[in-house]
Amino acid sequence: MSVPVTLPWSENLLGYDFGVGHPMAPVRLRLTLELLTALGLLDDPAVHLVDAPVADDAALTTVHEAAYVRAVRAASTGTPDRTRGLGTDDDPIFPGMHEASARIVGATLAGARAVWPGGPGGPAHAVSLAGGMHHAMPSRAAGFCVYNDLAAAIAWLLANGCERVLYLDVDAHHGDGVERIFWNDPRVVTLSVHQSGQSLFPGTGFPQDIGSADARGSAINVPLPAGTSDRGWLRAIEAVAGPVVRAFAPQVLVSQHGCDTHARDPLTGLEVSVDGQRAAAQLIAGWAAEHAGGRWLATGGGGYDLVSTVPRAWSHLVAVSLGRPIDPDTEVPAAWQDLARRLTGAEVPTRMGEGRNVDFRPWLDGYDPADPVDRAIMATRRTAFPHHGLEPMTAE
Ligand SMILES: [Zn+2]
Repeated sequence: MSVPVTLPWSENLLGYDFGVGHPMAPVRLRLTLELLTALGLLDDPAVHLVDAPVADDAALTTVHEAAYVRAVRAASTGTPDRTRGLGTDDDPIFPGMHEASARIVGATLAGARAVWPGGPGGPAHAVSLAGGMHHAMPSRAAGFCVYNDLAAAIAWLLANGCERVLYLDVDAHHGDGVERIFWNDPRVVTLSVHQSGQSLFPGTGFPQDIGSADARGSAINVPLPAGTSDRGWLRAIEAVAGPVVRAFAPQVLVSQHGCDTHARDPLTGLEVSVDGQRAAAQLIAGWAAEHAGGRWLATGGGGYDLVSTVPRAWSHLVAVSLGRPIDPDTEVPAAWQDLARRLTGAEVPTRMGEGRNVDFRPWLDGYDPADPVDRAIMATRRTAFPHHGLEPMTAE
């Protein structure tokens, strides 16, 4: 059974381009759209391509300071502001920077409008592939992120009557910007599973970081050791997010699917595969259906293995969102392989998966104190679970 999926898209989203040599090259989005097309997913009558307009200042200033928006506009015409992160190695300035960044916000907002309040009882999904700019702060660009589309979308949901949002971030990096923006807000739980800040940017996101005194438990962080692979990663997502999503019962689930968790990613140290990323999308889809009224807004995020990982990971995400998961043994369409080779000269994948067994040991099977991933899971359950009425030590 297909679920209606809204895909906000505009060719102009490819204008979010920090220039030659920057890891976040727009070809990753182009190749993803081309792979979705080649797989026939965009022909599914349940997929609705909608425009991604440039978000206006009213939308941007729900989460950003007006002075920062002015600084991004100035950066667009050549004036850097390094105190606000504009004109750094991570976030170089470029012509049209404001419009390109605000268009990503417009895309994710279009996704939010599609899932909330949603149809009469039926599920409604959206995937904002260009979105996921989780490091952007209220007054500062950071980590390739200028405007925080995720936070703007969540703010829109709250302003339009939604009372509980679960934000689940499975990017390799800590979702620090979204966490910061909703740190004091008990209506939003931000849950980030990431490579530990001890070994990766932005250096934050530890188990004791659980939200302000007025909103204890509204932030949840699972820092995993470098080298964590599919089974440990999926076990951590399930052992922490599973009970929280059941207890919190969000009205909308917002998830960020940065695929820089992949072993081939040049910027990070996790060892996840495309099969693991596909399995995470399936876990999250199940939670959206069972505990969030079928209202699910997913975004892209990081992902710097541009040709082999990003297009496959996010095509699986769209297919899972649609309720038409793609078998990992499926051949990558030859026309796409040719295009990807021609555009990038890189080695291209020939199958949609990587042949990994991603059956992970469920938390139910018990805690192993000798396993560093289990210790990370338990540290987070101990600090965060009591604030959600959950027992850290029980199997559930
Ligand atoms: Zn990332």
